[in-house]
Amino acid sequence: MGAHMDDLDTRQAIIDACLAMNRSGLNQGTSGNVSVRSGKGALITPTALPYARMTPEDIVWVGFDGAVQGTRRPSSEWCFHLDLLRARDDLNAVVHAHPSYCTTLAIHARPIPPVHYMIAAAGGHDIRVAKYATYGTPELSAHVLAAMDGRRACLMAHHGMLAAHGTLDKAMWLATEVETLARQYAQALMLGEPPELSLDEIDRVLEKFAGYGIADD
Ligand code: 13P
Ligand code: ZN
Repeated sequence: MGAHMDDLDTRQAIIDACLAMNRSGLNQGTSGNVSVRSGKGALITPTALPYARMTPEDIVWVGFDGAVQGTRRPSSEWCFHLDLLRARDDLNAVVHAHPSYCTTLAIHARPIPPVHYMIAAAGGHDIRVAKYATYGTPELSAHVLAAMDGRRACLMAHHGMLAAHGTLDKAMWLATEVETLARQYAQALMLGEPPELSLDEIDRVLEKFAGYGIADD
């Protein structure tokens, strides 16, 4: 509370994003967490609090130096949220969830290849799978950062996915796009190993997206 309650709009936007994720089926229960860069740290959802009961005061501020301001404990995943925002100045918001199709592929450690041009929305020609480590650990954070190298989204083995972008709205949009891609890929796999677009074609789409607004903040 205190010094950072001037971020009321951002706190409410984080709660709205969580509620939207549960409404759309992207997430369920208290799984998942959301953060938005704020000063030398980030505002992040509290751990284990049902989203329907969340108020702006429940959102916690965590500094890049580990300082915490709030009445609740931050999400157990604060480590990868903060590490990602510290390492990547192109990202200002991080959305983590356990959507069914992303998690299905992640259980099989199957990255999403370029089976659809929308793969480029995640920043490259594939969506990688971060190696498994226990939730909330620095090891998981290291795996997530490696899988996110040059990307805005990744799957997380035996866990879920995350999407990040320049704004919370774009991170939320990307999270939905990635779950849609995961569903399309999982369904295409039922008919056999699907054909892929070439890396040259994905490069062309990446260039077009840069002019289309998808790559912007
Ligand atoms: P939190 O409730 O601590 O944010 O944890 C949910 C989760 O998805 C852990 O990976
Ligand atoms: Zn999780």
